[in-house]
Amino acid sequence: MKKSVLAVLFTLILCSCSKTKKIIPKEAGNGLFHRVKAKHNSSIDSLDQVPYVINDPLSTSYYQLIDSLNGYWGVSRKVSPLNSLPYFEELDLGSNYYESREVVSFKELDSGQIKFTIRFKETENEDNRYSRFIVARADSIPFKSNTNEILLSKYRELKSGIFSDSIYGAIDLFDPYSHLEAFKKDAARHGVDLSHITRSDMELIWEPDSCRELMGYAFKSCDPNKLGIGLRRTDWNQKIISDFNEFRISLMWHEFGHAVLGFRHLCQGGHIMSGRHQNPKVVENLSECEGEYISTYDLVFDHKDPHKNFQRAVKVMFDGYFQIQYFCGSLEQDAILD
Ligand SMILES: [Zn+2]
Repeated sequence: MKKSVLAVLFTLILCSCSKTKKIIPKEAGNGLFHRVKAKHNSSIDSLDQVPYVINDPLSTSYYQLIDSLNGYWGVSRKVSPLNSLPYFEELDLGSNYYESREVVSFKELDSGQIKFTIRFKETENEDNRYSRFIVARADSIPFKSNTNEILLSKYRELKSGIFSDSIYGAIDLFDPYSHLEAFKKDAARHGVDLSHITRSDMELIWEPDSCRELMGYAFKSCDPNKLGIGLRRTDWNQKIISDFNEFRISLMWHEFGHAVLGFRHLCQGGHIMSGRHQNPKVVENLSECEGEYISTYDLVFDHKDPHKNFQRAVKVMFDGYFQIQYFCGSLEQDAILD
């Protein structure tokens, strides 16, 4: 699954990169800053005319200025539809999601706030984009104490969301093989027998941060007895634990959908296999792409709206309802599906 899907959730991820030029004046000092407002545009010439979006106080982005602008650092969320508890998530994961990114202007305002503009692109072939930020000094980051370790123990105690489920709640979240065991159990309770697949049938590849495009992918999709999974290690280890949509479970159910069940992406939203990031999109009818794009990361455990309900999406996947099998012709045998 491509990280751009998550970027929809974490739209504030726009400004993290190790390639930032060190042009921050010394007098700006080091320290911690939070976002006051921001704007984005495809052209720098008309960026002045774009209105700022004032920061939502329930979800505040934090920055660190060290010797250089350490861009976007993370987000502190007081309320999230996917998490019962507030948290701080460091989102400068690996710092190299970007093909290029640099600060093109920087100014300390009379108010003491700092205004800076960055030019960036996520992939080599796209045009430059621009973002301008106003940030203010901060003393500390709210909810930073809610680390993954703390959140995990609290959610297990609360038995909220996926932790209320006997199969999902028992997964060792940081062990991909534990996910495979749980996927087999989930399949069994939906009437699908995957008992022939064992841990040793799964080839696992850990990807470094330099693998910028993908958080996870599947291979060996055409072999009914084998599966391959690739995971970007930093994302896997560090993404915040959520009780109503756990990143690792949602990612793995999607990749197992490719690798174990042999399913392709669907342009329709609301499916574990929803995916619009390949070209061409899988489309039999253009209306498939019209609805709201709810990906595996947007589905919510126990959501009242069936379209957004995680369990409903899991059920239709195992039922095969609306799913499209991968065409395992000679060209597709070795394909990697993200
Ligand atoms: Zn996919």
